[in-house]
Amino acid sequence: STQTNLPDIDASRLTITRTQKPKALKKPEDLIFGRNFTDHMLSIKWTARSGWAAPRITPYRNLSLDPATCVLHYGFECFEGMKAYRSTVNGKPSIRMFRPHSNMRRLNKSSIRIALPAFSIEEMTKCLATFVDLEQRFIPDKRGYSLYLRPTMIGTQRTLGVGPPGSALLFVIASPVGPYYPTGFKAVSLEAASRYIRAWPGGVGDMKLGGNYAPCIVPQLDAASRGFHQNLWLFGEEGYVTEVGTMNLFTAWITPEGKKEIVTAPLDGTILEGITRDCILALSREHLTKEGWEVSERKFTIGEIAKAADEGRLVEAFGSGTAAVVSPIRRIAWDGGIGGSPRDIMIPLQEGKEAGVLAERLWKWMEERQYGDVESDWRLVP
Ligand code: PMP
Repeated sequence: STQTNLPDIDASRLTITRTQKPKALKKPEDLIFGRNFTDHMLSIKWTARSGWAAPRITPYRNLSLDPATCVLHYGFECFEGMKAYRSTVNGKPSIRMFRPHSNMRRLNKSSIRIALPAFSIEEMTKCLATFVDLEQRFIPDKRGYSLYLRPTMIGTQRTLGVGPPGSALLFVIASPVGPYYPTGFKAVSLEAASRYIRAWPGGVGDMKLGGNYAPCIVPQLDAASRGFHQNLWLFGEEGYVTEVGTMNLFTAWITPEGKKEIVTAPLDGTILEGITRDCILALSREHLTKEGWEVSERKFTIGEIAKAADEGRLVEAFGSGTAAVVSPIRRIAWDGGIGGSPRDIMIPLQEGKEAGVLAERLWKWMEERQYGDVESDWRLVP
């Protein structure tokens, strides 16, 4: 919660103004990610003088900002991406957010880094739960569908002075979304280019700031122009593997010493602390260590992946994130790094399939917990 004695977010002060014009629901198969929004939005204003105001749910509407508002000039913006899932558990319909406290903790971390206010994770989560409850008719009652939530905080002070914003707005909009892979997994091809750097030590790559995303579009278009789906972000002369597109990256291989290892980059400040990453680590430790897999968070390089592929030790690679949950990778084109020559790394998939066994199993374990087939404390029961 905030450091001052000013009011924090208080869910008991939440007011709801319902829309007079409820939207017609789209056919589930017509939903496009991030294009359709629900009837309402949740907003909470903050000022340095008075702290957090009462939370409000109102009809979804345009924001009105003075052209001098600081977010428009200096990028005082941070956000989250999270989902609520609907299913029938023990014969009762149930809508639950997945790990909302983790997203609110991460939002606090992002906002503090750009001199925007912190807030009570517990109270904000309660407001989110009320909002999701109100919008539940938008979530198709079908496997693979969910309500994507976009909590966002912006600096709203009207000033061209570069300094800490004296006012802010925290708002949440919601978008019903369908399955990322409607017809089953589709393994992706990545381009690992050394000339684009997403994040660096001492930077803000571990924060979910809008400012981290816009600069990644040109590299993505560049990769797409050569037929690749995403960028694999490397760092340093060593070619450390960090993330892929907007996902964390997992590699499964047999180490040169002959150990089975599932490895992902460590949270060293250059990597977004993916909540799916955390789930994949926990599920791997729960289910896969007893099958002899070692689960590691440590630095590793693209050169090591290439060598493992050459020596037949590469088992799988996949991305992890809220949107796709698990995204299998089939191929990485690497420029070879300094003094090296370009080469392709092919990643094994199951015969006739678009995913490896581990990606498939981890994805299933995730889905069981998202929809409540398997109870877990990741699924919020308010
Ligand atoms: N890395 C980046 C850069 C991202 O934008 C995201 C999406 N939030 C992730 C990783 C995955 O994080 P999560 O599992 O929390 O969605």
